[in-house]
Amino acid sequence: MAKWVFATKNSHKLEEALQICEGKLILEGLAADLPEAPEPYNTLYENALAKASFYYGKLQEPVIAEDSGLFVVALRGSPGAKAARYGGPVRLLETLQGQHERRAYFAAVIVAYWGPNAYRFYTGYCAGHIAYELRGEAGFGYDPVFIPLGETRTLAELGPTWKNSYSHRAQAFQKFLQSVTRFTKAP
Ligand code: IMP
Repeated sequence: MAKWVFATKNSHKLEEALQICEGKLILEGLAADLPEAPEPYNTLYENALAKASFYYGKLQEPVIAEDSGLFVVALRGSPGAKAARYGGPVRLLETLQGQHERRAYFAAVIVAYWGPNAYRFYTGYCAGHIAYELRGEAGFGYDPVFIPLGETRTLAELGPTWKNSYSHRAQAFQKFLQSVTRFTKAP
């Protein structure tokens, strides 16, 4: 099985990725003493690439990096790639108070990076809407307020089995897993 470093400092993302890739790929986390990578950009693609090149520079081995965000229609796409710094689900509920337009989507971009001129992007989306209150205990971030299309429960209520099969991150990783054998084999 191929081995890749998933270059994230987010333990929830690592846990999800380990479950998604189980039996298909060996994923390693980052050593605890490595610093947080900068993510200064407004797009998931630029931030994912910046994280990948930052950790590749430190490790000199193939890495996967990821950037994800929540895009809310009533907020014209905010918080988007800045979701980690937005203030979390409680602030989002406050901002949307009295707002009936609740549509939103999660997006994840992962980049498999095995050299400065050798990388590929994989994307995944999860459409849905924002609940009117926090519900559920599982997951992280905006999971307690996000209800995927076709569901009545939040991601935090649906739990890891649902999320790791259908989420934005699951879809991006599944695309990566489908192609990884092609470019890790010797030509
Ligand atoms: P970043 O990719 O490190 O910039 O962080 C993305 C932020 O978006 C997280 O800190 C969460 O607030 C939010 N986010 C991304 N993916 C998810 C998810 O699967 N569930 C809930 N929140 C998420």
